[in-house]
Amino acid sequence: MPAQAWHPSSWREKPIAQDVIYEDKAHLEKVLTKLRRLPPLVSPVEIDRLRAQLADVAAGKAFLLQGGDCAELFDDCSQDPIEHKLSLILLMSLIILHGSRLPVIRIARIAGQYAKPRSKPTEMKTKVEKKEVLSFRGDNVNGYEADDRAPDPERLLGAYFHSTATLNYIRTLLLSGFANLDKPLDWSFSHVRSPEIQKAFAAVIESLQDSLDFMKVATGKVGGGERGGTETVDLFTSHEALLLEYEEALTRGYTPDQPQSFSPTSTPALSRTNSRLRGVEESNGAYPHSPVRPPKSPKLSDSLQGLSMSVTELDKKPSPKYYNTSAHFIWIGDRTRQLDGAHAEYFRGIQNPIGVKVGPSMEPEEIARILDIVNPDRIPGKVTLIGRYGADKVDKFLPAHIDAVKKTDHPVVWQCDAMHGNTKSSKTDPNLKTRHFVDVITEITKSMEIHKEKGTILGGVHLELTGEVNDEGFSVTECIGGSMELEDKDLSFNYRTHCDPRLNYEQSLDVAFLLADYLKS
Ligand code: PEP
Ligand code: MN
Repeated sequence: MPAQAWHPSSWREKPIAQDVIYEDKAHLEKVLTKLRRLPPLVSPVEIDRLRAQLADVAAGKAFLLQGGDCAELFDDCSQDPIEHKLSLILLMSLIILHGSRLPVIRIARIAGQYAKPRSKPTEMKTKVEKKEVLSFRGDNVNGYEADDRAPDPERLLGAYFHSTATLNYIRTLLLSGFANLDKPLDWSFSHVRSPEIQKAFAAVIESLQDSLDFMKVATGKVGGGERGGTETVDLFTSHEALLLEYEEALTRGYTPDQPQSFSPTSTPALSRTNSRLRGVEESNGAYPHSPVRPPKSPKLSDSLQGLSMSVTELDKKPSPKYYNTSAHFIWIGDRTRQLDGAHAEYFRGIQNPIGVKVGPSMEPEEIARILDIVNPDRIPGKVTLIGRYGADKVDKFLPAHIDAVKKTDHPVVWQCDAMHGNTKSSKTDPNLKTRHFVDVITEITKSMEIHKEKGTILGGVHLELTGEVNDEGFSVTECIGGSMELEDKDLSFNYRTHCDPRLNYEQSLDVAFLLADYLKS
């Protein structure tokens, strides 16, 4: 049966899980109208580049490192937190690259990772008062404070502007030499207290520095301003695309060679008529798919002539390709991946590389069906299957999922989210969620072994982590174990997450060193 026509709002016809109910619909509409006018955060050129790099991951020619907060907060949009996150991901990637000798593709859960799916719509306000309030759904929906839980559409604009400011600072840092491989010790490594980690990292740096010096001499790129390929790196952004109203508003159609072809909500044929009109008013706002061709402002007479074109003539024009311009990579969560649901419908129409969370509740036959839905053209690099089984369940579920994919001709990236199947309650304070470092490592290593046995490749990891420190420079204490040997009783010392527990700076580097070792062998 042919699929129904897709357009950025066709998801509205489908049942939606984890929906947010706004009281003031007029306010929501006003916000969405504004969002549709605001410029894209990322470009199709960047998105296509990431998809191509993920095709390399699927083929075993690169490794994917994805990580960041469970729930990013608007307050995280500040110099230190952004620098800490960036430096942690850069350091990890360097360690993994050194061990594996593979290029590392870095995707951060940043600049938009605000919305959270929740297992229950309400939660207990405090231990003392025992009052049920709406659950915290993320900073782009409602406030963390118990008296601020009503969904507020204005927060969608907050999400856009905080994402923009975060991304702007990341781009600024990357363009200003923050990721210069010649001086990676500047990546705020100094507050790592463990002498073992300091020593291990110094060894990685020394060996890398040797290779870099050799490369420079070999390629004649000593001194001068020429880019030798080590001055900066790619870093891509990602989030769970949960709030489809927001994602739709940031979804833009691009037609190669038609700079003015841009209409996020109308049907493709009509959008071209509309976009000609827009070309008169907003000729500087849209740009073509190809960066080499500068946009031309259409003359008024051309635009008016465009209006009189017949529908048949319009239909001869190539249809636009739609990109979600709020992030390079977006994923469908474990709770919203229903085959006939709104999220699967939205995801099937966009060009971005996407992730699909896959856990114990996914039937093997469902995997092939969701892949057919979201990647009917079998585009390499398009889909990353993000396994999140748990250290004690991965043996039971991953093999059948791999077999199910092997029976198809779908090229996928297999990634291990070693966090979401490993959440436990703290023994000392059952209100705190925690994760054990050993479970995280076990799930990763078991996944690697299973893939090896099946002749497939674990292409990457997906982690919740943070470089955040308190005023005294101490890392967060949310997960148990690692080289710092954090114990359950230590958790309340610097427990800061507003959602799931994250690996701290040292624990994240521990994972990177272990990964580097496993990938070497
Ligand atoms: C998440 O990645 O923060 C998340 C909610 O994951 P999952 O959908 O796998 O539960
Ligand atoms: Mn989480």
